[in-house]
Amino acid sequence: MKFDPLVLIYALPLLALWGYSALRARRRSEQARAVLEDNRQAGLIEPASLHPVIDPALCLGCAACARACPEKKIIGIIDGKAALIEPTMCVGHGACAAACPTDAITLVFGTATRGVDIPLLTPEFETTVPAIFIAGELGGMGLIKNAVEQGRQAIAAIAQRVRQVPDAPGVIDVLIVGCGPAGISASLGALERKLSLETVDQSSLGGTVAHFPRGKVVMTAPARLPIIGEVKFGEISKEALLTFWEEVIAKTGLKPRFEEQVTAVTREDPYFRITTSKGEYRAKTVLLAIGRRGTPRPLNVPGEDLGKVVYRLIDPEQYAGQSVLVVGGGDSALEAAIRIAEQPGTRVTISYRGQAYARARKKNREGLQAMVKQGRVAELLESTVERIDPASVTIRCRDSLATIDNDAVIICAGGLLPTEFLNAAGIRSEAKFGTA
Ligand SMILES: Cc1cc2nc3c(=O)[nH]c(=O)nc-3n(C[C@H](O)[C@H](O)[C@H](O)COP(=O)(O)OP(=O)(O)OC[C@H]3O[C@@H](n4cnc5c(N)ncnc54)[C@H](O)[C@@H]3O)c2cc1C
Repeated sequence: MKFDPLVLIYALPLLALWGYSALRARRRSEQARAVLEDNRQAGLIEPASLHPVIDPALCLGCAACARACPEKKIIGIIDGKAALIEPTMCVGHGACAAACPTDAITLVFGTATRGVDIPLLTPEFETTVPAIFIAGELGGMGLIKNAVEQGRQAIAAIAQRVRQVPDAPGVIDVLIVGCGPAGISASLGALERKLSLETVDQSSLGGTVAHFPRGKVVMTAPARLPIIGEVKFGEISKEALLTFWEEVIAKTGLKPRFEEQVTAVTREDPYFRITTSKGEYRAKTVLLAIGRRGTPRPLNVPGEDLGKVVYRLIDPEQYAGQSVLVVGGGDSALEAAIRIAEQPGTRVTISYRGQAYARARKKNREGLQAMVKQGRVAELLESTVERIDPASVTIRCRDSLATIDNDAVIICAGGLLPTEFLNAAGIRSEAKFGTA
């Protein structure tokens, strides 16, 4: 058979294109593997709530899931198969499962090694303790739209329940715990239905999204807020979303109480006594809209109640020119130390009880080491904070005690999960180990 040179003219560009795509796919695969490995080493492999599990036998490696994910870069393609490479950053949009052409993705709670406790709820969002309801992420489903929807539906059920309990002086219809999307929606629902209510939040308005350093928030579907109507954002900045919530509060006259933590809910038939960090309430019903991110873990040291102590970094610029102590060894602590050290005139000390930052991403470990080398951060490993005073902090560093000048303390020592809170209130949960 005679060789036709025309074949070469067509084949060579095709071959070059194939080679280029193969090379690109290999580079992407290596990058994705490196991210996954970094997260494995840092122990960041357990997703917080609903997340995808990918069946490699069905996965074609087409990357439709990775492209569909609003968070981006959470799913990577390794050796031609999709993999969850940033598990802890998955917030449960579920867009990956919807986009998969071969149904290779199942959305599950928990993993085989780490169960996630999901409270047992009726379809009306009532817990196993009658008249205590749950809405939002605490019930298992993440996302703002779900929280808003559940807050609205839970209040409809609460309104029915309230009618069955006799009125009494000083007893309100509903106490709403949490002022994130679920709590706001429920509070508006209660206003709309003319229920007597109080809303308390241990922190400020807006819930989880408000507390995380994050630029963009994505709402993949609209949600309907009582009194306000349909809200449809698509993509919105965190700041714009917070402004929106503030406008909603101002417009409706809702009066949430901030910086007030609910510490106990006790049944006193036919009512509840709710104990908070500032006082007590009595209510016919309780709605827990406290999310799943928990309460910052305190150090329990003298002086921790001083106003200069906070549990998360909100605005690094406010620390310019100050002496700041960051406590902790995870990503939040390292990021806080780095970002504050970037501000002019700051003197940053990081104190961590461990020998190394085993639970932080490589990027942050390297960033911190660079700051330490430049003398912009003083690092105290194997150290613990002994006390906090108005103008100083005292730190035990192995066998010696050091007192250093200090203007502000940021404690990033992890969170206490709401499980204990639920247990104490008698609410039963079910542990899910990778269950759909
Ligand atoms: C980094 C990150 C990014 C995200 N991005 C998106 C996104 O782009 N789009 C999206 O739809 N979702 C996103 N989510 C998920 C979304 O933030 C949550 O699903 C949603 O905020 C849940 O709302 P919620 O009202 O149930 O709880 P939360 O928003 O968690 O609010 C709970 C509130 O309860 C308060 N609270 C807790 N315990 C107590 C107590 N004992 N006493 C008083 N108050 C208490 C807390 O201070 C908090 O304000 C993201 C989550 C994270 C962590």
